[in-house]
Formats: sequence, structure tokens, C-alpha cells
Amino acid sequence: MIIGKSKRELEKMRAAGRLAGLVREELRRMARAGTTTLDLDRAAERMILEAGAKPTFKGYHGFPYSICASVNEQVVHGFPSDYVLKDGDIISIDVGATLDGFVGDTATTVPVGQVGEDKLRLIRVAEESLERAIEQCRHGKHLGDIGWAVQEYAEAEGYSLVRDYGGHGIGRKMHEDPHIPNYGRPGTGTKIKNGYVFAVEPMLNMGTHHTKTLADGWTVVTVDGRPSAHVEHTIAVTEEGPQVFTRVPEEIERLQAAGAAVAARV
Ligand code: MG
Repeated sequence: MIIGKSKRELEKMRAAGRLAGLVREELRRMARAGTTTLDLDRAAERMILEAGAKPTFKGYHGFPYSICASVNEQVVHGFPSDYVLKDGDIISIDVGATLDGFVGDTATTVPVGQVGEDKLRLIRVAEESLERAIEQCRHGKHLGDIGWAVQEYAEAEGYSLVRDYGGHGIGRKMHEDPHIPNYGRPGTGTKIKNGYVFAVEPMLNMGTHHTKTLADGWTVVTVDGRPSAHVEHTIAVTEEGPQVFTRVPEEIERLQAAGAAVAARV
């Protein structure tokens, strides 16, 4: 069952989303060659606790950390570790914060130092696919419109969409109904209504869409070892259109500087 949110609840979710977005941007600044992914985790946890919130991921089904840090061929759910980031890596950083009873969930993929054009392009297409998905988060649209927006664009650019994982409804819990695949057919699936809040999270692979989980029980990697990029926003469906609760001003500046059309408002 999809849980619609009241205006008051949406305002709380906006605050949780903003916090998660600010932490995400700070971690982007920190993600440089020489930094460990555990450094990022500790910084995120400190910022979230200092804001009077809780790191949503920590303890979630036993997940031991405050962020997911997924490097290169890792798709999602990577464990922060003593791995030292190096020039040429790309890292997906996924952050969840629970503030005043509501969750904000967001992810970004960051190039570390000098990164090859092939990986940069993968990230750009992932970001653009999310912008296109956000535009579909409107009353009267269908879930299949979101998946199609991602799939149509990303596949035309030569990438595959991970099928084993997808986006989700979000509210008092991080994972609520519905499941939101990153593929689909327009006009199909559940009808979208005002008051719904979605975490939409395209995961694009340079090679095959197939994934496997490592022995730690969490870290998802591409089976062919080729790179993957992952981006995510928490988006409310409102009478005024899609509102991206995890969007913060510095992200808009960064996307616009890269030439992206950032249509949906904060
Ligand atoms: Mg999520």
C-alpha cells in the first residue's frame, strides 16, 4: 500500500531530505585521492547526529555503517572500509537521514581526481536520466513512466539498467511501497498521486546489467567487473509538480555548470 503524505508530513520530509542532501554534498567535497571510504562514513555520521537526526542505514537489517560507499564496479550497498580512494576511481555515496520521524535518501556518484572520459560520461548520463525521471513524478502519471524515462535515455546512450534493485516509496520508513524499477513501459503500472514521495535511483552499468552480491552479504557488484554509476533523489509529488527534497543549491550550481537542464525545483 502506498502511503500518501499530508502537507505537514511533506514539510518534515523536506527537512530530512535537505539534511541528507547537505551531507551528500559535503561528502562529495571530501571524496578525493587519499581519503578512505571509512573517513566519509565517519564524517556523515557526525554531521547527521549533530543535526539531531539518525543515520538511517546504520542497523537497517544489520547494515553496519551510516553510508553506502560503492567504488567502480560496485553498484550499491558497498561497505565503507580502509580502502583509499585513488585517481581515476568513481564512487557512489548513498546517504540516509531520519529527522523528526521521516527519512531522506539520496546518492551521488563522484569522480575522484582525473577520471577517464568513459566513466565521466557514464555519470553524466546517470544524472540526466534521474532528471528525466523526476519530471515524471506527477499526479496522473504512472510508475512505468518513471522507469521508461530512465530506460529510454540510458539505453540509447549505450548503458544497461540494473534490474535487481530499484527505487522505492519513502516516508517514516526508508523503504515503503511501491518498488520503482529503472525500466518500464509508458502509461503502465500504478497511477501516481499528489502526496506520494519516491526515492528514485537509477543504477547504470557500462557493461551487462547483471549483478552479484559479495561474500559480505551486502556489496553488489557488476558480474563483468565494468563500472557502475548510481544517483538518487527523494522526490515529492505535489500540486506544484515534483519537489526534490534532497536537492540543495550547490548541487543545482554543479549540474548547471556541467550543462545539465535542472528542471525540477527544490
Ligand atoms: Mg534508496
